[in-house]
Amino acid sequence: MRSGSSGTAQKQLMSINFACQVFDEAAMKQRLSPSVFESLQNTQKLGNPLDPNLAEAVASAMKNWAIEMGATHYTHWFQPLTNITAGKHEAFLNRSRNGEIIMEFSGKALIKGEPDASSFPTGGLRATFEARGYTAWDPTSPAFVRDGTLYIPTAFCSYNGEALDAKTPLLRSIQSLSEQTMKILHLLGNTTSKSVLSMVGLEQEYFLVDREAYEKRLDLKICGRTLFGAKPPKGQELDDHYCGRIRLRVADFMRDLDERLWALGVISKVKHNEVAPAQHELAPVFSSANIACDHNQLTMEVMRQVAKEHGLACLLHEKPFEYVNGSGKHDNWSINTDDGINLLKPGKNPAENNQFLLFLSAVIAAVDRYADLLRVSAACPGNDERLGMNEAPPAIISINLGNHLYSILKNIASGRRAVSDKAHYLAIGVDALPSFTQDDSDRNRTSPFAFTGNRFEFRMLGSSQSPAFANVVLNAAVTEVLGEFETILKNSEDIPDTIRSIVAQTMAEHGRVIFNGNNYTEEWRAEAHRRGLPEISNTVDAIDVLVDPKNIALFTKTNIFTEDECRSRHEILLENYEKVVFIEANTMHEMLTRQIIPAVTEYIGKVAHSFNELTKLGIENAELKSMISELSECASKLIAGGRDLEKLIAEGHAIEDTRETCQFLSKTLHPYMRSLRSYADRAETLLDSASWPFPNYTDLLFRV
Ligand code: ADP
Ligand code: MG
Repeated sequence: MRSGSSGTAQKQLMSINFACQVFDEAAMKQRLSPSVFESLQNTQKLGNPLDPNLAEAVASAMKNWAIEMGATHYTHWFQPLTNITAGKHEAFLNRSRNGEIIMEFSGKALIKGEPDASSFPTGGLRATFEARGYTAWDPTSPAFVRDGTLYIPTAFCSYNGEALDAKTPLLRSIQSLSEQTMKILHLLGNTTSKSVLSMVGLEQEYFLVDREAYEKRLDLKICGRTLFGAKPPKGQELDDHYCGRIRLRVADFMRDLDERLWALGVISKVKHNEVAPAQHELAPVFSSANIACDHNQLTMEVMRQVAKEHGLACLLHEKPFEYVNGSGKHDNWSINTDDGINLLKPGKNPAENNQFLLFLSAVIAAVDRYADLLRVSAACPGNDERLGMNEAPPAIISINLGNHLYSILKNIASGRRAVSDKAHYLAIGVDALPSFTQDDSDRNRTSPFAFTGNRFEFRMLGSSQSPAFANVVLNAAVTEVLGEFETILKNSEDIPDTIRSIVAQTMAEHGRVIFNGNNYTEEWRAEAHRRGLPEISNTVDAIDVLVDPKNIALFTKTNIFTEDECRSRHEILLENYEKVVFIEANTMHEMLTRQIIPAVTEYIGKVAHSFNELTKLGIENAELKSMISELSECASKLIAGGRDLEKLIAEGHAIEDTRETCQFLSKTLHPYMRSLRSYADRAETLLDSASWPFPNYTDLLFRV
């Protein structure tokens, strides 16, 4: 990053300590011999196979650099299927052969680690007694120093090489997409590009709440979301938070966060308040999919850490609060060549840009064919609370292309001449304002998959999710379609003409997935059903998609997953769903029986005491009496509800089959928890605020 820049630019980057904690191109160039440096660059930039003889030299340079940066330990940093990262920290210290204590880091230790695989989700891939797993150095994502440890990004697999993490399939999909796209580019006459990368920019939404208030809420601490909470007097209805002035405490947090992220090489660029009170967003500059996904994990970790240091808690859950918007993650995705050609860039004249039209068609076909896989990539219990609730896209995948591109494609499909519109200059009506051209398409915030000028933006992901799998699906699906296009193009005498017929065929077969209107309406749902587009409304239903023969075929054909790996992921997602819902149910039970019910009964006692005192004075207060009745009725509902909740939890545990348990949790336990919550929320509005056992929504949303 730093090495390519001019002297002034480099000084400016140094002024913000950009990437100062990263073993990046500049650091490597300085510390590695020219031949080792060049060979490593070929692996990093072009995906060439790693020369195993490099390891010793790289490890030694990395260690020396890391120690200068204050590191005492190293860790193989990996992404098990838990949505968070893991790593075992080992000191560089060792005893040499002659008994001296030394700081040591070998090529072998760089390349390979051996964590216990059985302590992470494996989905039945390996039995516990054969627990060996490996972590393998990923040289395409730079190592960095954080809190005294050298972090080495790694892929995590089982003893037999089966993927147990988020990164391995992503790397496989990047490779498949690159190989397939290069074949197409050669057919189109490209002789300059050597490899292709999917580029990704991840916008991350989050909430910040006061740490003290957070610590008092068991639900936030354990589940990341509130399981109770009455509607506050004010939510987001005034539209006064989105992009509004950033409060000083939050601004301090954001400044600190930026500086930390910049030091780690994350190009944090955009920050603003989001729609809901206490909600914010961060967006970095896009990078290669692999680095973008690593950086997103790092960003989430640093966010949590910096928030804590500022007396705040960062909530990454998809729906921390009822009544206001939840948080998502937007995955901006494009395909670029190593020499800087964005294959999804329409250029000045998209109607004549065959390369663009071909890749656009590939994405349209891929998304229509594998809409179900995209859906499952955004499926997690937290996102179930958010999708399709008029704040996030519905659970139906469609593509927003904008009217201009759509009409070009339709014209080609119907054999008419397609023309690109001339650039429109925007008329604001004030001469002193600068003039600029209107974009080709308006923004459509309701679309789950929108073309936004030179990339697609997948907007369905949940804020806490690893974005890796969504990119695996995109890369895999597009790779498959490009493979089919390649077969057609290989036998073509007239490439431009063939591309037009590919566009026409794509529109005929997959045009149904294009929708430029408002995705939040009931009319669209009905229309989508008429078009035969799948609507998969919850995680449990979505998970089965992973073992659909059509999808197993896609992943095996593109060398991304074996059938066993697909089945293992299916199992892991089910197990995760099951665990999350049970934890939420247990937390709800504990808060209900040990906090809410005691508070309500104590308060009833207080009001009854006042009532008796008044009666003694000869004052008959019928309203007070009816308030006591209402409170008492509420208490009965809560007590009975607590008992029923306990029974339902036991019933869920008694079901042996994981899939059936999940169905029960989603269809019976989860809805029951919602109804139980409503009684507690009603009780909250009846008690005086000092008697309520934990901070309320106003405390959480407005007191930072
Ligand atoms: P918005 O909120 O309007 O969607 P942001 O600027 O917050 O836009 O985020 C857009 C994201 O898209 C950024 O991370 C940006 O770097 C990324 N992006 C821009 N161009 C590309 C591209 N060609 N490929 C992938 N991501 C891109
Ligand atoms: Mg966006």
